[in-house]
Amino acid sequence: MRGTLRPFSRVEIEIINTGTELMLGRILNTHQQWLCRRFADLGYVVTRQVAVADTPADIERAVRDALTRSDLVLTTGGLGPTSDDLTREVLARMLGKPLHEDAGVLAEIERVFQRLQRPMPASTRVQALVPEGAIVLPNPNGTAPGLALELSPNPFRAKGGNSWLIMLPGPPRELHPMFASAVEPLLHREFPLDHPFSAQTLRTTGVGESALEDALQGAIPGFRAEGVEIGYCARIGQVDVRLSASGADAAGRVGAAVVAVRAILGPDIFGTGDEELEAVVIRKLIEKGKSLAVAESCTGGGIGNSLSNVPGASAAFLGGFITYSNASKERLLGVKSKTLSKHGAVSAEVAQEMAEGSRLALGSDYAIAVTGIAGPGGGSTEKPVGTVYFALADAGTTLVWHRVNAWDRSTFKTVTTAQVLNALRVRLDLGK
Ligand code: ATP
Ligand code: MG
Repeated sequence: MRGTLRPFSRVEIEIINTGTELMLGRILNTHQQWLCRRFADLGYVVTRQVAVADTPADIERAVRDALTRSDLVLTTGGLGPTSDDLTREVLARMLGKPLHEDAGVLAEIERVFQRLQRPMPASTRVQALVPEGAIVLPNPNGTAPGLALELSPNPFRAKGGNSWLIMLPGPPRELHPMFASAVEPLLHREFPLDHPFSAQTLRTTGVGESALEDALQGAIPGFRAEGVEIGYCARIGQVDVRLSASGADAAGRVGAAVVAVRAILGPDIFGTGDEELEAVVIRKLIEKGKSLAVAESCTGGGIGNSLSNVPGASAAFLGGFITYSNASKERLLGVKSKTLSKHGAVSAEVAQEMAEGSRLALGSDYAIAVTGIAGPGGGSTEKPVGTVYFALADAGTTLVWHRVNAWDRSTFKTVTTAQVLNALRVRLDLGK
């Protein structure tokens, strides 16, 4: 069933994101970035990325066009049960592959509804339709499986040969795991590269992108001599450093560069790969058998939210308080009214009392607390918009930090959350 296997020096890959909501600007096309990055980390560079509305004509034209030149065409979206989910049907028709109901997929879908304790709507059944010859990519996080079809030969390509068409579901929480479990193995099997490739990502927080570049500047000629490329990806409050190489001993050369970067950046590196800061914090707390309480003012629950996004967080995260008003700080955390009137709600003293109060209230080993001025109003000369105090308390001591995060309100909350979690991460690394 497979064409001749050959190592590839280059694979032509095209991504087609479908969805009218993308074209109307209703949602951000995060799949483009996510998929390109995942391919790049595996040594494949996406040749072209296209987004189209989910009308049959647009989907068909985009995929047909891509198949005239690509080894691998990957679509996202439109595999669901609603009337705007047309990818499966349109592409099966275009390829002349009849759709058959797959008993295994149907049973899987029925199981999902049993688990949810809901009746299965009749419309859902369409997701069990599989084009003839397609491989089903299981979807443990949803109902619509992905589909992979080898076009052998690819009828749309002038130079002939085989191509693969892979259809992935739209929701990121379904697409991301499916890429790892099904697309990556298929890629390695069907499109082996003729050169070894290696990439590693080190994640940092608390250092700006240009400061980071400056710090690493001296090491770059050495990396270049070894054929190791360095790249940066800045997000709010975080910068990733990516090191990659191809050719003989790619992994060894990248490994040596990672050691060099670690020596320069030290504790600014909080994790590797896709690991999130909050996951690192929870992991370290669990490793040390320590528990955590949180008291938040200006982040409005953002810290608790990110901690609770980590699977298994309950083993370390006891709970928290959103104490937005002075009265709630007094009543729930025992902050003294004298401290509030003397220093103001946004002060080192109040951050300290919030941390200590929440630690006592929940009986945790550690507590973190934050108070600040998110803006746009409420600033003064002494305490401008963006002023933040955060504290970290344990049984013996309470440490307090001061920052000025003069960003828009939402960026302020994200940056502040990262700073507070990072303070705890660094403290946990010190092993106390
Ligand atoms: P469903 O079964 O949920 O309908 P689907 O495979 O049909 O899944 P779509 O209907 O196209 O996928 O998209 C479902 C949701 O996934 C969208 O509403 C959106 O929230 C998200 N999504 C789809 N495409 C993208 C994209 N390119 N970038 C980010 N999010 C996306
Ligand atoms: Mg849909």
